[in-house]
Order: sequence, then C-alpha cells, then structure tokens
Amino acid sequence: MSSSSPDSDNPAPGLLARLPSVDRVLATPALRELSMQYGQGQVTDTLRTVLDALRARVLAGAIGTEALDAQAGTEALAATVTQRLQAKFAPRLRAVFNLSGTVLHTNLGRALLPDDAVQAVVRALTTPANLEFDLATGGRGDRDDLIDELLRELTGAEAATVVNNNAAAVLLTLNALAAKKEVIVSRGELVEIGGAFRIPDIMKRAGATLVEVGTTNRTHAKDYAEGITPRTALLMKVHTSNYAVTGFTKSVPETEVAQIAHAPSAAHPQGLPLVVDLGSGTLVDLSRWGLPHEPTVRETIAAGADLVTFSGDKLLGGPQAGLIVGRKDLIARIKKNPLKRALRVGKLTLAALEPVLRLYLTPERLAERLTTLRLFTRPQAQMHAQAEALRPLLQTALGNAYAVESVPLFSQIGSGALPSDTLPSHGLRIRPMEAKRAGRQIIRLETALRQLPRPVIGRVADDSLWLDLRCLEAKDEADFTMQLLVLQTALNT
Ligand SMILES: *Cc1c(COP(=O)(O)O)cnc(C)c1O
Repeated sequence: MSSSSPDSDNPAPGLLARLPSVDRVLATPALRELSMQYGQGQVTDTLRTVLDALRARVLAGAIGTEALDAQAGTEALAATVTQRLQAKFAPRLRAVFNLSGTVLHTNLGRALLPDDAVQAVVRALTTPANLEFDLATGGRGDRDDLIDELLRELTGAEAATVVNNNAAAVLLTLNALAAKKEVIVSRGELVEIGGAFRIPDIMKRAGATLVEVGTTNRTHAKDYAEGITPRTALLMKVHTSNYAVTGFTKSVPETEVAQIAHAPSAAHPQGLPLVVDLGSGTLVDLSRWGLPHEPTVRETIAAGADLVTFSGDKLLGGPQAGLIVGRKDLIARIKKNPLKRALRVGKLTLAALEPVLRLYLTPERLAERLTTLRLFTRPQAQMHAQAEALRPLLQTALGNAYAVESVPLFSQIGSGALPSDTLPSHGLRIRPMEAKRAGRQIIRLETALRQLPRPVIGRVADDSLWLDLRCLEAKDEADFTMQLLVLQTALNT
C-alpha cells in the first residue's frame, strides 16, 4: 500500500512536525466541550489514538502533506474524535424493526413486554421492593411466592418455581430428581433447540443417564414400559416444538405415558414422575383467536404430567424465564437443590413476569393487552393497508434499481412454536431490476437496511428482500418512514 504513495520513498522529515501536540488540540474549544460531555480521560485517550495513527502513516510514508494537513487540522481532529466517542458511547443493544416475519425471533429478543410489565420493571429497578421479604410477618420471604399463586391458578398445578430460562428449568429439574439415575425419553423427542440446547447434552450435565426408547419416527407405550429399570428416576416427554415428524409416525400421548410412569411396581412402589418439557408452553388455548392449538400447561398437568417446564418469553409473551409447575413435593425438592440458587431469576424478571401472568386472569382482553398475542392476531387487512401506503414511499427511496411490490405472505410464530403453521400476513417484496446483479444488489440493500439508525431486519429469499409488516405497529410507522431518506442517501453513495 505504502509503495503506491507518492511520498513512500521519502517521508518528509518536516511532515511529523505538522502534527499538532495533544495539549494544543485539547485546549481548543471543541475538545474542551467534548471533555465536558465524555470526560477528559476519554477525550485525551481517543485523541492520542487518532494522532498516533496519523504519525504511523507519516512514518510509513503513507500520507502526503495535503492529506495530512486536511486530517491533522484541529477542526478535523475534533470531528474525528467526536465521531469515535459517539460510536463508543452509543448503546450496543439497539432497537430494530423486526420485519423478518418471525414474531418470536430469538436473535431479536423474543417476546415484547406489555406496558404494565415495563412499568413494573422500572419501579422495581428504581425503588426497593419486597423481593424476598414477607410483608405479613416481617420475616424473610421467598421470591417464588410473588408468582406461585398466579401460576397455580393459571395451570391447575400444586406449586411453581421460576429460573432464568427453560433450559435452566430442564437442567435443574433433571439434576434435582434424576442425578445418578436414568431418565427415559423417546428417540423421536431428542430435540435440539437453537443455541446449543440438546436434550442429551443437558441430561449429561444434569448428571442423569439418558435412556432412549422407541425409534425416531415411532415410539409405543410398551417402549416406555420396557425402558423402566430399578435405576429409573423419571419419564420425560419433550414437546417437539421446532420440527414435525410426518408420515409413518407414532408418539405416545401424555395421558398414556403418565399411566405407565405412575403404575406401581416392585422397584417403584410409588410409581415414577412424568416430566414434560413443553418448551413454548402457553397458558391459554390459542384456537380461541383462530390460531392453531398448542397444548396448554393446564392440559398437560391434567393429562397427568407431574412437572411441566416452559419458557417465559415464547408464547407466554413475558420476560426470559423458565417456569416449572407441578407436584408440591417435587417442586420442594427442586427448590432445595443448590442449582436453584445459581439459576434463580432477578427482580427485573419477576417484576415483568407477575403483571404478564395477571393478564391471563382476564383472557377475554388478552389479545389487546398482551403484545405478542396482539401481533399474532393482527388482521391481514391491516398489514395490507400498511403495505399499500408504504410501497410508493419505499419505491421512491430505492429508486429505479429495485421494484417494490405489495404482496401477501405468511408470518411465523417463531421460537420453535408451531413450526408447520403460519399466519397470513402482508408485506413488501423488493426485487433488483437487473437480474444479472440481483444477488449483489440484494446484499447491498439488506446491508443498507441493517445500517440504518434503527436497523430494519427483513428476510432474503428467491432473489428478493421481504419485509413482513406484521410487527410494524402503527406507533412505529413514522420512525420507519423517517428513515427512508437516510436509506436513499446510503444507496446513492
Ligand atoms: C425453547 C425450548 C427450550 C429452551 O427454552 P429457553 O427458554 O430458550 O431456555 C427447551 N425445550 C423446548 C422444548 C423448547 O422449545
């Protein structure tokens, strides 16, 4: 690189002298103002880094007099330092537009909290609260008590506890109930959930021995029965939430596995517990809103499950959490396990979870109050009207290199829920005009959208970029259209 520079053979000795001293730049009004905002240390360090880089380029003969003067002037340096500090102090966790078509997108943070929950989190963060303090007696409380009663009412279970996420709920349950013992799982349910959660791995980490029964596509009741040994601790069913085995298949329903588990035998006179990992368990029957039915936690308990584990931020629509509900004696053993302390939730989680659970007490108003359900149930006509209004604006921003169409499409619930069912939606399909360079043009557009002040995340398929408008609610639409000018500028430079 340096060899192509005109000055490379002879870095003028006078050049280094043209670099101002740190102190001189720091004394300028612009930098003094920056110091007020970001602190003297940050400004000095950043300025030093910028000057060092310029010095290195001078020594390498990689910069000429003119370029150096342009970059080493006090105004230019102030601008560079400002830009770097702004970037450094800008939050890394940023609001984006999720137009991917997947409502519960794990990489985009899954469920969005309703207002009540947000207010409760703010309150819990800024004022002391009775997290583990029994207001009735003045004694020490148990943080699970904050949600225990609600979860019992909503699921019909005898007791409940909460940990950091559902993976933690499964790990803790297995460790508390099955360490050094065997756990029977159907081969058809040895799932991997995105992000390295695999039932066999969790089982190992929990110290339990996995006993696989049946085959990938078919597992019969007798497979479970024959898998039981004196070392069996429990039978487990895993909701195969993110894929469907279709064709010649058989799985054994919870009621039947529960009967097999509970049957007393010589080795297990009390029978064995059935644990169900429901994954994205929901607390209400979604078919009430025309959505596909997912087994509810209550149904699973009623079917005979002794414990059910599920996520807080999937279909439930709350904060990240892992909920365990079921038999009182088993929950007591789980709560006594030292891992419970390691995996416990913080007050933010509990503050958010409690109001979300309370919304379920009034299911008739749930679709308007619970953000995720509101998104799932948005009528297609709404997204259609939005697409018609946004199409010409986007077309103007993109110019004639792309064609924007308003198209019907299907959203997904996401997070492994209901993999084969989709929600009729509407959105925008953007296609490059020049077929030859379509691939590159799509990448260019996808990148430009991702680099907007509030990044827009779409989906690339069939040489097109698709923007599903289901998750663009009216309150965010102005934010979206305001950025179109930025997009236009980005694509034209
Ligand atoms: C999502 C899921 C998990 C993991 O839950 P997290 O809350 O993401 O930890 C475990 N099991 C099943 C069946 C799931 O669907």
